[in-house]
Amino acid sequence: MKTFFSNTISRFNFRRLISLKIIIPVVSVILVVGPILITRAVVINSYCSKSMEEKVVNIRSQCNMLSSIMSANRYITQQNDPDVAARIEQMMFTYSARILIIDRDFTVIRDTYKEDYGKTIVNKNVISAFKGKSFTGTNKKTGYIDIAIPVYAMNASGVEGVIYVTLQDKNMLEVREYLNDIFANITLVGFLISLLFGVGSVFFTIIPLKKLTVSINRINEGNKGMHIEGRKLIELNRVSQAVNESLDKIRTMDEAKEEFVSNVSHELKTPMTSMKVLAESLMAQDCAPVEMYREFMVDIINEIDRENKIINDLLELVKVNRAESLLNISTVNVNEMVELVLKRLGPIATNKNVELIFESFRSVVAEIDEVKLGLAINNLVENAIKYNTENGWVRVSVNADHRYFYIKVADSGIGIPANCLEQIFDRFYRVDKARSRETGGTGLGLSITKSAIMMHKGTIKVYSKENEGSTFSVRIPLHYSTAGGEA
Ligand code: ADP
Repeated sequence: MKTFFSNTISRFNFRRLISLKIIIPVVSVILVVGPILITRAVVINSYCSKSMEEKVVNIRSQCNMLSSIMSANRYITQQNDPDVAARIEQMMFTYSARILIIDRDFTVIRDTYKEDYGKTIVNKNVISAFKGKSFTGTNKKTGYIDIAIPVYAMNASGVEGVIYVTLQDKNMLEVREYLNDIFANITLVGFLISLLFGVGSVFFTIIPLKKLTVSINRINEGNKGMHIEGRKLIELNRVSQAVNESLDKIRTMDEAKEEFVSNVSHELKTPMTSMKVLAESLMAQDCAPVEMYREFMVDIINEIDRENKIINDLLELVKVNRAESLLNISTVNVNEMVELVLKRLGPIATNKNVELIFESFRSVVAEIDEVKLGLAINNLVENAIKYNTENGWVRVSVNADHRYFYIKVADSGIGIPANCLEQIFDRFYRVDKARSRETGGTGLGLSITKSAIMMHKGTIKVYSKENEGSTFSVRIPLHYSTAGGEA
């Protein structure tokens, strides 16, 4: 038993179980918080891009329009167009933007912030615009947008000025902050829930599993009578149940083994004791007559025969119970096999004045181990003769259908009491010990028979009525297969 549980436990890797305590909460948190963070990055990033893109498109189209009007009105050189001035003011208010108008000498000729008026601005954006290439620069982090649009001269003498717009997309910054706050809250809630779930899972699974291991260890230490408590989780409860069932089986097997050993010792001791008593009584007599020696010797030989029979039956039982791969399967004519058994037992039946009747309903050929099954049928017929009455009969029949063959052994004997029917297949069980002993029974015959039939994936049933007789019905598949068993 110790090895069974030690093996089961060694299959669990405890280091892995312990690390699962950390892995489960960490994985739960990662699985929940990870997707939230990714969603946050995608949502905020795409919102910022979209917001700034929209603004850039609008401002650029306004600047392009302004650039055309400036060209048409020669605003750069004359700077006296009120319409242009009004449009610049309007743009400034609409976008909270700073608008600079720069002339060909890189001098600021108009600044809506009135700070850099008359100053020179030379930067790569302005230079790019003077080269005829509009410039747009955005910075999602700070929300700054820079746009430089060339203003062409009317006489097609190239770029004569630049509209330079700078602004900060404050609306985008505010919404971004708002979204950041929302996602921060969602992340916090997700973190707490997943952590709770992770810790809960550890609490409900790993800890009970550890407790279960402790219980199993206690059983391994020799606490055989212990039962594993049921668990709240269905899965763990199933494990507990399975362990308890295994424990019950092991206990039953242990008990059966102990009982068997004690029965064997008892059975083997009985003839020994008789022999000892017989020998000692002879020794106690100073001049015992030869007849007495003869008589006691006959008794001693009988006891030796009995001891021999018990040992032979035990060896047979062990042989029959070995792995089924030891079955020597061949195609056998069942009718002939049964007839041979009856022929062998004929003299015993004649001695008891019991009539042996053989009924063959059809010729049966099956895949069986002839020796083992022959022995099983022999035991049934021998019992039917042994436990019969004077002038009784034993009827053995063989029949078959497309899947099974059937052997029935019916007798007109003493029958078996209903309350003993279940035990008669147990080792060493005898309904009437004295009678069985008289007839040379060991109580092993039926258990050898049952084992042999089970190995053939067959069944055996008994019907009996006291003082009327018994019928043993055997059913065995015609074709032997290693897979599956018979009910
Ligand atoms: P035994 O060696 O004692 O015959 P078995 O295992 O063959 O042992 O049988 C177990 C017990 O079942 C017998 O002791 C007997 O009491 C009972 N039994 C078996 N077969 C019959 C039968 N045909 N009629 C009456 N009793 C039977």
